[in-house]
Amino acid sequence: MRVAIQGCGHGNLNSIYAALAKLQNDRPVDLLLICGDFQAVRHEADLETLACPPKYRHLGDFPEYYSGRRKAPVLTLFIGGNHEASSHLWDLYHGGWVAPNMYFLGFSGCVRFGGLRISGISGLYDPRHIKMGYYERMPYTGDMIRSIYHTREVEYRKLELLQGKTDVFMSHEWPHKIYEHGNLNELLRCKPHFRNDIQSRGIGAPPLAKLLKVLQPIRWYAAHMHVEFKATVQHDQNVTEFLALDKCLPGRRHMQIVDIPAAGPMQLEYDEEWLSIVRAMDPFLSLNRTAPAIPDKVDLTDHVDFVRRLKESRSLKISERNSKPSDTPGKRTTLLQTSEFCRMLQIQDRWGLPFNLKLTNNPDEICSHENNQ
Ligand SMILES: [Zn+2]
Repeated sequence: MRVAIQGCGHGNLNSIYAALAKLQNDRPVDLLLICGDFQAVRHEADLETLACPPKYRHLGDFPEYYSGRRKAPVLTLFIGGNHEASSHLWDLYHGGWVAPNMYFLGFSGCVRFGGLRISGISGLYDPRHIKMGYYERMPYTGDMIRSIYHTREVEYRKLELLQGKTDVFMSHEWPHKIYEHGNLNELLRCKPHFRNDIQSRGIGAPPLAKLLKVLQPIRWYAAHMHVEFKATVQHDQNVTEFLALDKCLPGRRHMQIVDIPAAGPMQLEYDEEWLSIVRAMDPFLSLNRTAPAIPDKVDLTDHVDFVRRLKESRSLKISERNSKPSDTPGKRTTLLQTSEFCRMLQIQDRWGLPFNLKLTNNPDEICSHENNQ
């Protein structure tokens, strides 16, 4: 399978697809991965949820794809970074289509495509918010525009539970000290201002370094630092090839195409193990300021059984039927995907609120949600 990897997106979808067309020559790629800062800004209102300096606050190319005027020429899978239409992505917390052929992996997620298992995590590490719940509500006030993309503990912990092999892992930022496994001198030559951070606390997210050790994925793709960087991490048995790429600007090394041996249907599918993890970890997903403590061991048995039965009754293909904006435009299409996902796993749909208020059994959540509407 041919997979194209792009660093940050920053709303420049037209340039990214143009670069892809040029780079792929006459051997079309099967999949494009974008490692965050995707900026799925649908309209002006979404700009209010995008954390960035005013000069970068623009609609970008996404509205053309959202409205159906343009269509992604290849299946595009992305994670979130620190410059996002955050409330849009929040409505697709568990993952979903933002436009035809464009799929958001979720705040954390794992899917299968063409025989590959692709996992990823959105956002940035920030110790101030890691232990909190997702308390942010629209309109974002104070620090919410930034805290919404700070990765919570539950996302790291969900991914740590994955047992099977991960072919590809995507994160926006780098695992902590990943540069120790690559050409640090070359990195400092391109980005001399990294030196101070590297000498003091080290660049990258410590929970990602832990994930790297636990999952030992074959490939790990990242962005955020706006520079190309390669590293090879030797584990006891396996090796992880790490690649970070730049953002899409002329002359920058922002995209790379790799051939990955894989055999399977070129169809996006839910990952069975991941679904059981989402189900098992759902009680630890909080929409309050506080979040329940996650025990060291989480028992998946019942949830594995549930997903096995689910698989007998339906296919795990990720249906594209909700991906056409023309069918049911706006927030409804988005929330419908989340609600269908929750119904499939029989977990609480926290996004259908206040429509589903009666289904909520936690009175605190009802109150906090209503107060912040
Ligand atoms: Zn970026």
